[in-house]
Parts: sequence; structure tokens; C-alpha cells
Amino acid sequence: MSHATLVRNGRIVTAGDDFVADLLIEGGRIEAIGRALPSGPGMSVHDATGLLVLPGAVDVHTHLDSATPTASTVDDFAAGTRAAAFGGTTTVVDYCTPPPGASLMAGLEDWHRRRANACVDVGAHMIVLDAGAATLAEMKTLVEREGISSFKFFMAYPGALMLEDGALFTALRAAGALGALSCVHAENGPVIQSLVQAALAQGQTAPRHHALTRPALLEGEAAQRAIDLAELAQAPLYVVHLSTAQALQAVQRARQRGLPVHAETCPQYLLLDDSVYAGEGFEGAKYVMSPPIRHASHGVALWRGLQAGDIQTVATDHCAFTYGEQPHGLRHSKRLGLAAFNRIPNGAPGLETRLELMHDAAVLQHGLSLHRLVDLLATAPARLFGLFPRKGTVAVGSDADLVLFDPHERWTVRAAAHHSLSDYSLFEGRPVTGRVKKVFLRGQCIVDGPHWLGREGMGQYLSRAASG
Ligand SMILES: [Zn+2]
Repeated sequence: MSHATLVRNGRIVTAGDDFVADLLIEGGRIEAIGRALPSGPGMSVHDATGLLVLPGAVDVHTHLDSATPTASTVDDFAAGTRAAAFGGTTTVVDYCTPPPGASLMAGLEDWHRRRANACVDVGAHMIVLDAGAATLAEMKTLVEREGISSFKFFMAYPGALMLEDGALFTALRAAGALGALSCVHAENGPVIQSLVQAALAQGQTAPRHHALTRPALLEGEAAQRAIDLAELAQAPLYVVHLSTAQALQAVQRARQRGLPVHAETCPQYLLLDDSVYAGEGFEGAKYVMSPPIRHASHGVALWRGLQAGDIQTVATDHCAFTYGEQPHGLRHSKRLGLAAFNRIPNGAPGLETRLELMHDAAVLQHGLSLHRLVDLLATAPARLFGLFPRKGTVAVGSDADLVLFDPHERWTVRAAAHHSLSDYSLFEGRPVTGRVKKVFLRGQCIVDGPHWLGREGMGQYLSRAASG
């Protein structure tokens, strides 16, 4: 199993380099990079002529096997990480949500049980639901002993996940003192709740009202508030799934002042617009996520933010439900919200298509470099979340997580061909140029074209250091 592997003649592209060479893999790591490396007996040899050799992509925003009181995501770790692998993602950092009333440690133990069948390497961020003394003490234990160097705080979902401002500030200060990165979901939950109640009172129950009750201003306001509180708390901040021009401006202002503020966006906010919610039918439920898909003007701003470097990462927020009720059952289905939009499970699949969609959109259509693509999808997330240089690059000593990528192959996104258990794609029918051909996890070829060569449980837990 740890026999040597040679990847020949590929065009190796990292965040900083671009050259044609051979790669020698031994013991799961990259042992040597050079021209015309000799092959030995028993070595497996892969010809990468004409292909890009990219570091395995790192997706730092997923919700696998994750439950809310009414719904639970359809992809468990086995299905979700197999989908990830087919899309060239070999590292996932998943959000661990402690069950209501459970301690963070109990939540983590439960998460470890669920992630045991993962097919790619996985780490966890911990979601923090209160800022009491016991929780703050557990945050310290998680950083120092459990390899969890990032936390997530919700400014949305009052009564369920939200931290009010005082608790948010306390938690930010604790995370900052521990050297951990604070991830925030920036939306003003109480005001959204008021808008939702007003809409329902007027009989506005269709999916499109999900978007109408979560206006862009309330993301901008929350992002600015998070930035201000994090500055006061001396905490590095990471704004997850940033979707609006207003929130981006808040991040830009903070970065211009030299504050350690980072932003993530997702393919759906770059490639789709709010026309997906048109009509009174239920089809829009596929796109019910928070934040919602925005007006096209926000997408234009986000692309500028990517080009200017104000957005550091592109993750998926993969949180998959099914549109139909069969065969997985109502508790995984968007149809839970047939009667009222506020009961539609929030989230969508996306783990499998990130690299290919972003290659097509960012490199071929918006002129970003391949280096920047690699940085956004692998290197920057690995650095920010304490995984670099083991993950996120192609270098001697790094894990041999590799993607052999054909930048010219044309294909069309079809949910029916995907490996997620969800029954739809946000990008159904979209033509894409560039396709993942082979994927290696720690030197093992786990994806070869349409063939799955990996196995459940081969993914390792990634104990993460502070990002520094
Ligand atoms: Zn999320």
C-alpha cells in the first residue's frame, strides 16, 4: 500500500509555481520533484502528459451528516467525501454542531463517530452556542488537545444557533486569546425573524420569500458588527459564505486598516443570481440557503473582490438535502417546507463541483490565474486553518494529495452523474470546461476517471494547528 508511485510529465501548478516535472511519491508523501525521475520495480506509474497537476483541493465549509431538529443532511461522511474526491477535494474541514444541551466535547465525540467512514481527510471546526465558563474552558481544551483551531459563531437563527452580541464578544475574545480563528455567519438574525413573521402573516409562503426576508443590508450590517467586535476582542476573523457587496465593503475597509479579517465566498454566490427564486412554485426551494442567492450586482462585486484579493477562499457550504421525498425520506427533503418557506431546510449540495466550476468561471471567464485558483481552493484555506504545508500545495514533504486535471475537456453538470445523495445540482445543465481525471489521497489513486478506487474509512482525522 505504501509502494512508490511516479506521476510523470505533468504541469505542476501551485499558488506560486508552474513547471513540468515528475513527482515521486513514497509513504503517502511527495518524496521528490524533478525531470526524468527514474522508475523502479513495483512502482506504479501515471502519465500526466498534457494534464495539470494541482494540490488536492481543501474545502473548509461543509455540513456532513448534520442534523437540525426537523431535518438532517442527506450526505453522510462516506457519501459526501466520495463526492468531494470525484471533484478533486481531498481535505474537508467540517462544521461540528453540538446537539442541543450537549457539551462541546460530547459534540466532538459524536462527530468523530460520524466521520469515521470518511473517504478523504477531515478536520473539524466547532460551532459554539453559548459563552458560559464551561464552554470557554472547553474551547481551550479543543485548541490545546483536540486539534481544533477554529470556532464558528452564528449571528443568525435566534433561539437556535445565535449568540447575542455580548456572548459573541466574549467568545471572540476567548478564541483570540487561544490563537484560534473565529468564523462568523454574518446575518442579523432578530431582524430577519421579524421580516419572516411579517411575511408569513401576509400569507407569503413560497420559497422566494426566503430571499426577500433576508436582505443584503442585514448581511452587511452583521459583517461590520462582527468586524468591530472582533477588533475590540483582538480576534482574527473569518467571514463565512460572504454573499453581498455591503459585507465585502466592510471586509475591504477592515483589511485596508490592517485588521486580520478574512472572507470566504462560494460558487453559488459567484455564478447564480436571485432569478432562481422567480415564480410562486416550489422549485426555488432548491436554492433556499442562508445567505440566499443575491441580485446579480452582488456577484459582480464578489468577482471584483476576488480579483483584488479581498476574498481569500472559495468554499462550498455543502449542506445537502434532497428536493424529492424519495428514496431518502422526508427528513432529508426540501419538501418539509412545502407549506411555508421558513420550514425549508437551509442548504444545498456543492462539494463535488467546486474546482471544475471555479476553473471554468474564474480562470477561463474572469481571467484569474491558475495560481490564484489553487490559492483560493487549496493553499489559502490550508494556511488559514492550520493545515499548511501538509495540505494545500505540491512540495517535497507534503502529503501526496494530487489532482490530475484536464483543462480542455468540456462536459455538462448533471446531478444524475454526481456522487452526492442529493437529487439535484444548483448548476444543472451548466457547460463546463476543465475536468478532474485522477485524484490521489496520500499517494493512493482514489479516483480514476469515472472509477472509484478509494474506500470508506480511509480518510484520516486532521489535528490542526493555529493559523498564526
Ligand atoms: Zn454553513
